[in-house]
Amino acid sequence: MDLTICSLSSGSSGNCVLVSSGLTNILIDVGISGKKVIEGMNALDSDPEKIDAILVTHEHIDHIRGLGVMLRKYGMQVYATRGTITEFLHGRNRIGEVDPGLINAIVPGKCFMVGDIIVDSFRVSHDAADPVAYTFSCGGKKVAMATDLGFYDDDIVKNLKGAEALYLEANHDVNMLEAGPYPFSLKQRIKSDLGHLSNETCGKLVTRLCNDNTVRINDVILAHLSEENNFPELAYETVKSILYMEVPEDRRPALHVAPRFEPSFVAKVTI
Ligand SMILES: [Zn+2]
Ligand SMILES: [Zn+2]
Repeated sequence: MDLTICSLSSGSSGNCVLVSSGLTNILIDVGISGKKVIEGMNALDSDPEKIDAILVTHEHIDHIRGLGVMLRKYGMQVYATRGTITEFLHGRNRIGEVDPGLINAIVPGKCFMVGDIIVDSFRVSHDAADPVAYTFSCGGKKVAMATDLGFYDDDIVKNLKGAEALYLEANHDVNMLEAGPYPFSLKQRIKSDLGHLSNETCGKLVTRLCNDNTVRINDVILAHLSEENNFPELAYETVKSILYMEVPEDRRPALHVAPRFEPSFVAKVTI
């Protein structure tokens, strides 16, 4: 059996990640419509009826657009931090009426089980109420995801360590962002500690994980690319060239770029 991670959709138009052990299926964020989730699950030879739980990273619209619809239609459990729950129930991007019995508050750093998968969460720095990223373990193997983070630190590295497949943000190219059309304040927000990870910072994070890790990282999926300030080839080449210089060949992972509107490469770890 395999523990897998992939996205159904990635980027500012909507994020949705699927982690599966074969027995258990978990969606992380539903930033796309319910219809798009169904299409994405079908494209992956699965079915939304088989989703056991939804985890939410934070309340920005590109992560919760279809959440209310999915909960009303399928009634699966949803997990998020208390700050995120308050925001999606009562804040600017409300998800509408949902059964309160479906909502579970999590505490970052306290793991919990969904089916046969151990889920762990950790805080990330982003301009949201209480944003987190997640790791997933099953049969002694681990995969992890982290998007929407302004920077990484030792704590984030510690949490991502041990994962053999990673889904990581490579949001923008700093030069493109600086030369691009965004207003100054938005450029500053994206670059700030509460913003998004650049291609270069993502490359440095992957380098550190490759060199520190006791396990070999097989696959890294580059995700949440900006439409205006990045290109898939640029994200790929930037991270690849950093790894080429900094990581011995036998420890370099395969790189993949998550497309905006269709399922990504499915990274598999044998369990
Ligand atoms: Zn966000
Ligand atoms: Zn986002």
